Amino acid sequence: MRSQARVVVIGGGVVGASVLYHLTKRGWKDVVLVERDELTSGSTWHAAGGFHTLNGDPNVAKLQEYTINLYKEIEQISGQATGIHLTGGVMLVSNRDRWDWLKMAHARNRYLGVPTELIPVKEAKKHWPLLDEKQFIGAMFHPLEGHLDPAGTTHAYAKAARIQGAQIIRKNRVTDTVQRPDGTWDVVTEGGTIHAEHVVNAGGLWAREVGRFVGLELPILAMAHQYLITEEIPEVVAFNKETGREMLHCIDFDGELYMRQERSGALVGTYEPNGRPWSPKAAPWDFSTELLPPDLDHISDNLDRAFRHHPALAKAGIKNVIHGPFTFAPDGNPLVGPIRGLRNYWVACGVMAGFSQGGGVGLALSNWIVDGDPGSDIWAMDVARYGAWANMSYTSKKVTENYGRRFRITFPNEELPAARPLRTSPLYDRFKTMGAFFGVSYGLEQALWFAPKGKKPTEKITFRRSNAFPIVDAECRAVRERVGVIEITGYAKYEITGFGAESWLSHLLANRMPAKGHLALTPMLNDAGRLIGDFTVAKADDERFYIFGSGPAENYHLRWFEAQLPKDGSVAVRPLTVELTGLSIAGPRARDLLAKLTDADVSNSALPFLAFREMDLGLVPAKVGRVSFTGDLGYEIWVRPDYLPAAHDMIVDAGRELGLAHFGGRALMSLRLEKSWGTWAREYRPIYGPLEAGLGRFVSFKKNDFIGREGALEEKNTGGKLRLLTFTVDTKDVDVIGDEPVWHKGKVVGWITSGGYAHHVGRSVALGYVPKEVAGEEHFEIEIIGKRHKARPQREALFDPTGARMRS
Ligand SMILES: Cc1cc2nc3c(=O)[nH]c(=O)nc-3n(C[C@H](O)[C@H](O)[C@H](O)COP(=O)(O)OP(=O)(O)OC[C@H]3O[C@@H](n4cnc5c(N)ncnc54)[C@H](O)[C@@H]3O)c2cc1C
Repeated sequence: MRSQARVVVIGGGVVGASVLYHLTKRGWKDVVLVERDELTSGSTWHAAGGFHTLNGDPNVAKLQEYTINLYKEIEQISGQATGIHLTGGVMLVSNRDRWDWLKMAHARNRYLGVPTELIPVKEAKKHWPLLDEKQFIGAMFHPLEGHLDPAGTTHAYAKAARIQGAQIIRKNRVTDTVQRPDGTWDVVTEGGTIHAEHVVNAGGLWAREVGRFVGLELPILAMAHQYLITEEIPEVVAFNKETGREMLHCIDFDGELYMRQERSGALVGTYEPNGRPWSPKAAPWDFSTELLPPDLDHISDNLDRAFRHHPALAKAGIKNVIHGPFTFAPDGNPLVGPIRGLRNYWVACGVMAGFSQGGGVGLALSNWIVDGDPGSDIWAMDVARYGAWANMSYTSKKVTENYGRRFRITFPNEELPAARPLRTSPLYDRFKTMGAFFGVSYGLEQALWFAPKGKKPTEKITFRRSNAFPIVDAECRAVRERVGVIEITGYAKYEITGFGAESWLSHLLANRMPAKGHLALTPMLNDAGRLIGDFTVAKADDERFYIFGSGPAENYHLRWFEAQLPKDGSVAVRPLTVELTGLSIAGPRARDLLAKLTDADVSNSALPFLAFREMDLGLVPAKVGRVSFTGDLGYEIWVRPDYLPAAHDMIVDAGRELGLAHFGGRALMSLRLEKSWGTWAREYRPIYGPLEAGLGRFVSFKKNDFIGREGALEEKNTGGKLRLLTFTVDTKDVDVIGDEPVWHKGKVVGWITSGGYAHHVGRSVALGYVPKEVAGEEHFEIEIIGKRHKARPQREALFDPTGARMRS
């Protein structure tokens, strides 16, 4: 057996085979795949082989489309048939909410370029003749759906990779992965050790166990899943005869069923609400091409619905039941990318829809290995979206919840209950007593709004404005008219120390570094000059800085920071997580409030906009930055967690006579819309450049060289392609959620990234990207739940366009 390779891919399921193929496509030939048994012998061999482009994240949806279009290519190179049937599909809905959801999915497909159609049930019956029309109210036709042969497809990837130079070693289990001091890897297998530059964990059903070789506890869990294949169904035979074609794929959302034609019968799969984990603690190594015993009782509710919604199924005999495990991450999207702190260790696992996503995962990961960047926006699949808090127990609860909701709607204001509360701040209990309605971000409970006295903090889930609308309205008004306080512990914070700290930061970040005692706002760019972060940086001392950024991106940013650290020890980065907790006060009376907490001079001249000071607030030592995401006069007050309740008490006491009110995350999101300020993972993502995102003024080309400078300069010279616009939207009872299409002169030209109701200015607001050529135009429309609404670009911030409020 060979003893050296540039990359060792562990696992020969559809995902590992795709990664291998894509590495060879990028010209890397010294690559080897090691498979424990035969190719496909994990979850791949017993898959139903269905594919589609449906995904909650448009960037993942695009990668799914890439996967589907790839099958012809691998067939051509390998000469191996994938058995692809691109039949198209219909999605059936039975209630108004789901119909609204379908209208939104259809609208989103407009800018993704997928020509879906909303069709009446009668029309859907022409594609899926087994349905009972009375059970449904509408449907969507989707052209990019179909099915293939799972084994054929995996072998096509593998053969194409082999033809392009890769090697595949079967019947050889990897038993350990050991990193050498120089960062390279010894991949220990039953047949010997391979020394490799890179290791890819594509272990599928065993990815968690493979991760444990290096002390990783990946947040993935396998669930047992069943589909059945019926005997011949006369209606299917008649349909084929009459039309000369096979039945289309079918998703019945309310039945929680997916179906398609299989020979002269049907294949029926279910996502039952009470799904069962398979091998919750450790997957047995001796499990191979075997199935779990059929258990139709467990899915009997779904089958009852199947028989009611599609009566011909009730009369059909069952030929075969396939019951097997496959893996999920807590949110159902794959886990892809490099692992923080483990140089050249990559994962491509948790892929629950290998035949929709495997190609895109292989493409992104191979780009990342070869170029240091995935080449597209894969935030929704990035393994770094989870932190250490996503342990086995968390994963178990969330995966089970997610599995049971596979065909259920998650409303934009819906906060799912599993594994909560997990991380809480020292103010959690008192906020709960005060009537806070909580959401969760990066595992941490965060108050979203506060119920008025005597009212329960419950919210009706909806695509439209909820019962929290007037509550959030009152919170926004309190900030704009008096002063509000919000907990900001959920922001990510990092301490950067060392004699090299300033020059390192100035190379890492695009703006100039602040003077001592000040803050600077700055984007962070990747090598190509695209946005990978936006931060506030504080210079506390000559060799001590703080960075404040997006909470959910903590692991993602730390991975990047640490990869860029100099080897000479001149700089140290420390995540402060909840070692530093915070409260922000904002509104015209915020200074009066701060003045009551300290003897220090907090006048505008002593503590101007973007000042940063370490000071005592009464008994509490604090770091105070004069900045606020509300866009108002405001301060961020950072204290150790043991001081947080005391700091809160002080603020509440001092604020009483100033009309202080608590506000939550929803009000903050509304207030920042009035300033046209974007947020990470919505407006700011690696598909946008700083100029396009309206952050050009925070990029300093006059300072030293910095990461992404060349790309940003090119963007500046060419003007980039897109522009982020703020629209006010003519609506009555509905606001954008995100991902709606933007129309101009009868064509879809762009997409919405986020928005909502801006309560203080009393307008529905949306932020979104359009091509720069049309950005100067006036008349746009935004399609919200199937209806186009007039939208006008706002050329300046709706609130305080000159920044006088926050600066004076
Ligand atoms: C009943 C059922 C129906 C499904 N239907 C569909 C469908 O219609 N469409 C769809 O897209 N997906 C479907 N899936 C999911 C699909 O099977 C998975 O998305 C896909 O198989 C994941 O592929 P993988 O390569 O990540 O993992 P796996 O197929 O599990 O492959 C992992 C491979 O790694 C090998 N391996 C693990 N550890 C080691 C080691 N230490 N050394 C060497 N080799 C190792 C294993 O032997 C295995 O071959 C279904 C799954 C089930 C169970």
